[in-house]
Amino acid sequence: MAERIETEVAVIGAGLAGLSAARELRRLGVDVVVVEARDRVGGRTLNEPIGDGEIIELGGQWVGPTQDHALQLIADLGLETFPTWNTGTNIFERGGRVRTYDGTIPKVNPVSLAEVGVALKRLNRMAEKIDVDRPWEQTELASWDGETFATWMRRNTRTGAARDMLRLAIEAVWAAEPEDVSLLHALFYIRSAGSLDLLLGTEGGAQDSRVVGGTQLICERMAAELGERVHLDRPVRRIRWEEMPGDVPAGLPELGPHSVTVEADELTVAARAAVVALPPALAGRLEYDPVLPAMRDGLTQRMVQGTVVKCHAIYPEPFWRADGLSGQATSADGPVSVTFDNSPPGGKPGVLLAFLEGNAAREATDLLPEERQQIVLDSLIRLFGPKAAAPERYVDKAWAADEYARGCYGGYLPTGSWLMYGEALRTPVGPIHWAGAETATRWAGYMDGAITSGIRAATEIANGKG
Ligand SMILES: Cc1cc2nc3c(=O)[nH]c(=O)nc-3n(C[C@H](O)[C@H](O)[C@H](O)COP(=O)(O)OP(=O)(O)OC[C@H]3O[C@@H](n4cnc5c(N)ncnc54)[C@H](O)[C@@H]3O)c2cc1C
Repeated sequence: MAERIETEVAVIGAGLAGLSAARELRRLGVDVVVVEARDRVGGRTLNEPIGDGEIIELGGQWVGPTQDHALQLIADLGLETFPTWNTGTNIFERGGRVRTYDGTIPKVNPVSLAEVGVALKRLNRMAEKIDVDRPWEQTELASWDGETFATWMRRNTRTGAARDMLRLAIEAVWAAEPEDVSLLHALFYIRSAGSLDLLLGTEGGAQDSRVVGGTQLICERMAAELGERVHLDRPVRRIRWEEMPGDVPAGLPELGPHSVTVEADELTVAARAAVVALPPALAGRLEYDPVLPAMRDGLTQRMVQGTVVKCHAIYPEPFWRADGLSGQATSADGPVSVTFDNSPPGGKPGVLLAFLEGNAAREATDLLPEERQQIVLDSLIRLFGPKAAAPERYVDKAWAADEYARGCYGGYLPTGSWLMYGEALRTPVGPIHWAGAETATRWAGYMDGAITSGIRAATEIANGKG
């Protein structure tokens, strides 16, 4: 028989959002139970040991300036950060040519560079118009909601190199193609992060720093604080709720007159409110009784998970450093689109991180693991030379194939969605509150956004909106 627990708030999902919600609710004196489908916490953050006490991160890893909640939480939990390796010459590959460059600007023809520069400035300027709290109210933005990034890009750039560079930027941020993402969504994201420079930058940007020991430690430490309140291996299948007849019971009247029953495998949690801290695409796969309002369900039908395969080739040494290379490469030829030096802080072993994103990841996700490894190594050999051919170990994770992620880095909205359905992203349904990186207004889609979304959902409940 399924175990039955009574609590005040049931939190579904033990990623950064769910655990931050639970931690905040505890801080506010509210009793919580966290129900997690996997046999681990961390969700889209995941450490993989590689020997000698070192790890690589198969999910989210970087933090950077202005991600204040993530940086604060990392410090509060006694963790430290270290700078991303950013010394040496970078690589840009296009049209079969591999070229090195110093600084941030690849060596392509000056006309294309100028076009990209103007386009980025325009995008930053347009993004300033977005009200990240309520973009759905900005009906004057209907034309941006109605076109893809690709159509805007075609109108605003003429050269192939400029379009390739913008495509790479879109793939790097959304793990999707310019044809997938609405212009309004791209602008919302830029505004939510602060600027495109912050989104795309290494030093001083979103790729600035890493967490010593790996980001999954953030969730592990929060879960340790919550102790037995976190239940693993309990996939939630159904959420039932109803208005409670009669008076609100003593204890926490601010939670409102609801009862919620969260039905997971071998566990039922009876509560007064629930936080669903899953990406919308997965939240939409749960069964709800009563059925969700059409707008909320419509949102979950539209918010698409990006597609990424995060790949690591591990060598005895970071051999590229000796060749004067930073390990950072960008390739318009693919299938690997971006690489980084992901070696541990001590620089040993040498770890090259390679991303397959958007269409390249869609094509690679269902390949046999050895086939995927080969196409990644073929890219690395072109970029870094023959020494890249024989890593001691190769590890990747295709997030779209993961039952409890079904894609990454996160959800994005295609055309015609923000204005019509955006409001349903955070609007509670009865006692059900929505958290997760996708619901954030600052650093949406990032670890920082996941953390703030959990705190926001906890505050909503404690403020009596439940
Ligand atoms: C490859 C990759 C690279 C990334 N890089 C970065 C980066 O460098 N910097 C950055 O800031 N962000 C990055 N991100 C994004 C970041 O990891 C996420 O935004 C963040 O971790 C999301 O946290 P969350 O709590 O909102 O969702 P999740 O981490 O997805 O948490 C949801 C939880 O719910 C669980 N769950 C799912 N279904 C059920 C169910 N039915 N019942 C119970 N539990 C369920 C899941 O197992 C999971 O634990 C990256 C992500 C990936 C995958």
